[in-house]
Amino acid sequence: MHMMDTPLTIAQILRRARDFFPKNEIVSRLQDGIFRYTYNDLYDRVLRLSGVMADLGVERGDKIATLAWNDHRHLEAYFAMPVMGAVIHTVNIRLAPEQIVYILNHAEDKVLLFDETLLPLVEGIRPYLQTVKAFVMMTGKNAGDFSATSIQPLYFYEELLAKRAPHDSLPNDIHENDPCGMCYTSATTGNPKGVVYTHRAMFLHSLASGLADTLALSETDVILPFVPMFHVNAWGLPFSATMFGSKQVLPGPMPTPQVLLELYEQEKVTLSAGVPTVWLGILQLLDQHPGKYDTSSIRGLVSGGAPAPKGMIKAFKERHHIDIFQAYGMTETAPLALASRLKPRLAETLDNEQKLDYAAMQGLLVPGLEMQIVNEQGEVPWDGETIGELLLRGPWIAGEYYRDSRTESTFVDGWLHTGDMVTVNEEGYIRIVDRAKDLVKSGGEWISSVDIENALMAHPAVLEAAVIGVAHPKWQERPLAFVVLKESEKGKVSKQNIIDFITPQFAKWWLPDDVVFLDAIPKTSVGKFLKRSLREDFAKHYQD
Ligand code: AMP
Repeated sequence: MHMMDTPLTIAQILRRARDFFPKNEIVSRLQDGIFRYTYNDLYDRVLRLSGVMADLGVERGDKIATLAWNDHRHLEAYFAMPVMGAVIHTVNIRLAPEQIVYILNHAEDKVLLFDETLLPLVEGIRPYLQTVKAFVMMTGKNAGDFSATSIQPLYFYEELLAKRAPHDSLPNDIHENDPCGMCYTSATTGNPKGVVYTHRAMFLHSLASGLADTLALSETDVILPFVPMFHVNAWGLPFSATMFGSKQVLPGPMPTPQVLLELYEQEKVTLSAGVPTVWLGILQLLDQHPGKYDTSSIRGLVSGGAPAPKGMIKAFKERHHIDIFQAYGMTETAPLALASRLKPRLAETLDNEQKLDYAAMQGLLVPGLEMQIVNEQGEVPWDGETIGELLLRGPWIAGEYYRDSRTESTFVDGWLHTGDMVTVNEEGYIRIVDRAKDLVKSGGEWISSVDIENALMAHPAVLEAAVIGVAHPKWQERPLAFVVLKESEKGKVSKQNIIDFITPQFAKWWLPDDVVFLDAIPKTSVGKFLKRSLREDFAKHYQD
């Protein structure tokens, strides 16, 4: 043995926070106000929760589901399950109840922890759950407040924690490749697919998030994950922020752009993370109320989950002096896989517009991972033009879907096939051209819906835009654009004006044949544009 083979575990992350950052703060927005405590308090309560779970019969390898918003109790569950060798399975509260039932039964979850606000949801699914043996409501209230509920056996979080001493015999032989977390991701067709995360994967992913050229997380940061803790572990931030002792601000139930901006100001947030639709909402509010919110503490807004439009990045920078850091990943990649930071040589030589082009790319491969970009001819040249599918492998990339036959088509010869069509330029920067399924195929040629959306969202009157391919009698498919105008611009802008605005940027055959004005673009359960529903509703648009 040349070097020691010590395990990388979640327990180490937690102990580090207790030992080195005991006084650093965690702020949690609850229904009835703001709650604050420290990493020292977190440690104590995590061990109590582990004890409570042991009392409820939870054993190593068991899966414990959560249906919860981002708050301190959810953070406690993130650590309490892994340190006792169990698995925290965060479930997306916005899915249809039938899908939630499928997910809990498929994962065979033993206990369900849920927020008080989600009681009606849990009551609805309770009769269909086959494996859940105990229900814990994450609340300070107790049985007297909920005498009408039929859920059995039902326990109350604060009551349980107050009565239980910290677990004093946690296992010390947890292997780094043991499971510690689980998350399901929606599939285009069929049921959601499960990904199981290991201690080692989460540990290395946290380290990678601290690198100066990725997210540069550190103790100096105040981190607000808008991204839900049920969407790829809030992009790993609860683990990485704890590893580095960063102050965490958890925005609680149903946070709005206004809530976020108030928390940024009050808590001096430096870094916040979410999908582009959230940033579009924040941008609109900042534009409507110039000078109202102090955002000077922010060093960056991490945008991932969908392409960050260049126009949005530009507007934040020029009008509000806020940097958008683009990052790319997926449930299967834990998620951080690409991060967009400008190489110093490029920063010196490029003009502002070129720098924005780079900021709108998904960026460079994160150290520790490997990639291939392939099309029918093999690996594509690094020319920024040739399109291929992105394949990834590495210590925090999933190797399979949990008990799912779809594993075979996605994980091939040791590589994850992402389904994302990309180009890579001579500097190694990757640009997502489209999801494979979203590319528009017109007369045998590909059109990038992302490129057209980007151009549309740069129009000063446009709030949101989405483009889909619609069946066409002559061209197989033609692009159709959907546009949501800003409140103040409604009724003032014509279809032709929109098309004229983007015409200089594209070959004529790329231009959408029609523009449909909507009040809102339908969104997925994690806030991305829901193109599937547009495709269904407008399938015959070019045939009528
Ligand atoms: P999910 O598993 O829900 O996080 O979805 C993962 C998918 O989101 C990826 O396969 C991409 O298609 C898309 N995605 C994530 N980050 C980005 C990004 N920065 N730019 C463009 N698409 C992204």
